Amino acid sequence: MSRQNRFVRGYAVSKADVDVVVVGAGFAGLYLLRELRANGFSSRVLEAGGDVGGTWYWNRYPGARCDISTTDYTYTWDPELHEQWTWSEKHATQPEILKYAQFVATKHDLYSSIDFDTKVTSAAWNESAQHWNVETSTGESISARHYVMATGCLSIPKDPDIPGTDRYRGPVYVTGRWPHEGVDLTGKRVAVIGTGSSSIQSIPHIAAQAAELVVFQRTPNFSMPAFNGPQPSDRVARLKADRKAYETEARLSGAGVPMELPTVSALGVSRDEAFAMLERSWQKGELLALGATFSDVGTNREANEVICDFMRSKIKEVVNDPGTAELLSPRGHSYGTKRPCMDTNYFQTFNLPHVRLVDLRKTPISTITETGIEFGDESKEFDVIVYATGFDAMTGAIVNVDITGKNGLTLKKKWEHGPLTYLGLTSVGFPNLYMITGPGSPSVLSNMMVSIEQHVEWIRDTLIDLREGGFDTIEPTPMAEEGWRVHCTDCADITLFQDTNSWYMGANVPGKPRVLFPYIGGVGRYRQTCDEVRARGFLGFELVGSGKKQRNDGIVRRVQPDVDMVLEMMGQLGLPPIESMSPAEARAFSEASSAMRPPGPEVGEMIDGTLPGAGGPLEYRLYRPATKGPHPVVVYFHGGGWVFGSHVSDDPLCRELCKNADVVIVSVNYRHAPEDRFPAAADDGYAALQWVVANAASLGGDPTRVVVAGWSAGGNVAAVTAQLARDNGGPALKGQLLLTPVTDGSRQHGSHHENADGYILTKSLMEWFWNHYADPSDRSHPKASPLLARDLSGLPPAMVVTAQFDPLRDEGDAYARALMGAGVPVEHLEARGHIHTSITMVDALPSGKPPRARMAAALRRFLH
Ligand code: NAP
Repeated sequence: MSRQNRFVRGYAVSKADVDVVVVGAGFAGLYLLRELRANGFSSRVLEAGGDVGGTWYWNRYPGARCDISTTDYTYTWDPELHEQWTWSEKHATQPEILKYAQFVATKHDLYSSIDFDTKVTSAAWNESAQHWNVETSTGESISARHYVMATGCLSIPKDPDIPGTDRYRGPVYVTGRWPHEGVDLTGKRVAVIGTGSSSIQSIPHIAAQAAELVVFQRTPNFSMPAFNGPQPSDRVARLKADRKAYETEARLSGAGVPMELPTVSALGVSRDEAFAMLERSWQKGELLALGATFSDVGTNREANEVICDFMRSKIKEVVNDPGTAELLSPRGHSYGTKRPCMDTNYFQTFNLPHVRLVDLRKTPISTITETGIEFGDESKEFDVIVYATGFDAMTGAIVNVDITGKNGLTLKKKWEHGPLTYLGLTSVGFPNLYMITGPGSPSVLSNMMVSIEQHVEWIRDTLIDLREGGFDTIEPTPMAEEGWRVHCTDCADITLFQDTNSWYMGANVPGKPRVLFPYIGGVGRYRQTCDEVRARGFLGFELVGSGKKQRNDGIVRRVQPDVDMVLEMMGQLGLPPIESMSPAEARAFSEASSAMRPPGPEVGEMIDGTLPGAGGPLEYRLYRPATKGPHPVVVYFHGGGWVFGSHVSDDPLCRELCKNADVVIVSVNYRHAPEDRFPAAADDGYAALQWVVANAASLGGDPTRVVVAGWSAGGNVAAVTAQLARDNGGPALKGQLLLTPVTDGSRQHGSHHENADGYILTKSLMEWFWNHYADPSDRSHPKASPLLARDLSGLPPAMVVTAQFDPLRDEGDAYARALMGAGVPVEHLEARGHIHTSITMVDALPSGKPPRARMAAALRRFLH
């Protein structure tokens, strides 16, 4: 029988030749096994442990519990379980969770397909046979079409990397490999090294037995009381009312647990109010509650510091000795960037007379000895040493198995500079290899149950699709994998994770690459992405079957993640298109939107005034830095398609540029269309520049150091003003800063079609702007379309910023190229993943910060 036939019919020729080998019999392996069987795939599960349960089989240290409430940390795929199994507490203990895994495995008769005490020693892709050869510690060779690593994210304890560990002659225990029979520490002198979740849970229990306990702490951690007890009544009530709706909400949530979305900035309320809000979250005793109190603690360090202060105040309240309280108080890392912990009487334990805290930053361990530990200038004897030093997380268990893909490439080699995956599920060069909760998926930043079920279902559905489509193999394309890496990095870059040495960043294992291993874009968005990949015909994958091939190359997420969220929110609001409004309505809408945004940073001074324009007085707003003047001057023109906006409408951007470039900014309210059509805006721009230079000294500015700048239609006015100044004998300019400028009224460029819809500025809105501003016959005039000027030489140095998903992108790019061609020095920044408006959204979209930093740097270069 051909392999293809066997695969289609879905039964095993022999135990050594199956459709799917799954490594690991934790919650992922168990559910996958059940789904494979239910769908006619022959399968084997190989498990290193002696029973099911995965992490809950190994982590038996005293006090081990799950930090996610049992209302949420529970399978949803078998509705009968909700009737047949009752969780006894809010936070289940390790023994209870293990029993649950055993109960499910028994109920679904899964044990018979699992080989226990069996490690995979190697797995190699056989290219000619198109299957995996899997070798085991029991000496078996298994061939499988598909190979799934369901090995968990925190399975391989890391080497404690402390000198002298081999010397110690007493008993040593590792929290992640605690003896099954338990350990009696009564009357013992115990050392615990490490203060992560495992340690924080176990220390109160160890202290209750030990005669003496010394805790060796390198980095203090944030921890909150678990307030364990019955399941949370509000969640129970919601589950009872509508379990399906609750589960759907969990699947589409940020971290796999239904939470109310925060809308308030931690900096937008008084400190007392912030602490009161945090107190309410604290009282919930839920892992995710504190972080979900405010909207900006994940991205804004100052906002995050509010939680840190609150947490430190809590430690001070319970720890009697102020010195110890301070030592236990985390400083220098943001809340949530190391996994926050939940405890029961952890901090209180340090009030006990036989418990001591040692700060390894001040007194590092010089060596472990035969009988104890030497640290600082002390040498102390211990009866027992407990290592709670953590795991080689996320990738440790995967690269621990020798996995060899195409052309002899091992996964370990491929990942030596960081894991490369598509969706955290698959990897180029390794056909038919899948990772459940792999690096590049939400995994450890989520309720693992939700993420496990999602991955199992995606793999199941993919295998079914392959079978139905007559395909034998699936492998991601290099473009898709690189696109996913970039997207994961973009997501990580807007958070505070990068600055902290955590296991999320691989920083706990010497030599491990420093990247954010899990995907931080959120469980719901991630699920939608995976679903979209399948719905779009396996976008980013190559599928091969006998005599057929389907390669659907592409990148699934290209817009910056925070920009994507704004687009989604705006889509949900269902706002009418601006081009369906009258100019008056559009102006009112624009003003109302501006009123809701963050104000931007403080500047030294803001003064409103009027200046003479080409057709009468124009309002302006002057922004002055807090530093000593006179300052160089930027004459700034706002966006708004010549129709709306004003001298104050780009306030946040002007403030930030003023502060970061240390310049005076004069933002000018040039005349608007349709009341004042072309060339009113252009003429006002030039008149304003002349007035500012003539009056620079009285404005606190330096008339010899002046730049024009503008965004969108304002970028058009700025570019035109620079040309008018060149052609009319001055004033001399030091530079021009053009942010997503309008440069060509013909609107023939490809980006007008490519990005016609869906990115706020649309093709039809741009047409509406032009129709209000200029007659078709005027649009080719260089005062309307600076790109069409005959000569661009002799213009001041420029910085041109264009955005990838902007209809105006190509005309901005063309202007940058044309300036360069004319010998003008140009810095051209093509802002990847941005839209027309996103770079101006100060303090709202963190991804706009780097391009704006480049803009401020350009101003400094032009002017200082
Ligand atoms: P961990 O969070 O990585 O903590 C390890 C601790 O050991 C840290 O305090 C670390 O200090 C310290 N350490 C490591 N190497 C050291 C060395 N050479 N010298 C001195 N100190 C050293 O590990 P964990 O506590 O086992 O927890 C790992 C993860 O498992 C958790 O973050 C959580 O995701 C999961 N977990 C969950 C639960 C639960 O749900 N209830 C319970 C336990 C664990 P540094 O911080 O300075 O590196």
